[in-house]
Amino acid sequence: MSDLFEINNMAHCERCGTPVKVAGPQNSKAKMLRRSKKPKGLCVNCAVHDWLQNTYPVNMILAGSGPKALVHPHIQKQFTEIMRVGLADAKPDEINWDLIIENWDLPFKNKVKGTATNPASQAVLDREPAERARREARLKEEFEDPGRRQRELDDVINNEFLPLMQKLGNQE
Ligand SMILES: [Zn+2]
Repeated sequence: MSDLFEINNMAHCERCGTPVKVAGPQNSKAKMLRRSKKPKGLCVNCAVHDWLQNTYPVNMILAGSGPKALVHPHIQKQFTEIMRVGLADAKPDEINWDLIIENWDLPFKNKVKGTATNPASQAVLDREPAERARREARLKEEFEDPGRRQRELDDVINNEFLPLMQKLGNQE
């Protein structure tokens, strides 16, 4: 025997495919993690990831360091506070952080867009791991050889900038 009402209220997360129940409250005031009234959208864990990757500069930090920072209880506790302020429909105990980390690399249907409040578009986020590695290598070099940066600057001045200025000065 089938129950049409139940079937109509079931859906699958459009990212990870987990079954979800459609149970959107009337007049939700949620500014984040809002429950859908239609059988379409993300499960709570994918919605948390979606929020994280669209919130600057959280998204830059996670893009550079990976999702491991999310295992820390004090980070999870802070997210509970953010949910409270954002009047989230989701409840903190519904979130499975291990699963969020496990599913980290699953693609989203929509790419992250750069906006007035989020300068980190998908392209910026995708570049961040390499950028971070470059900054760290640079810091390490600087630490191991503190005068290097100044010498490089002197080299640019003496070998590139000065000859260019001399050449411009010698023009008739
Ligand atoms: Zn999902």
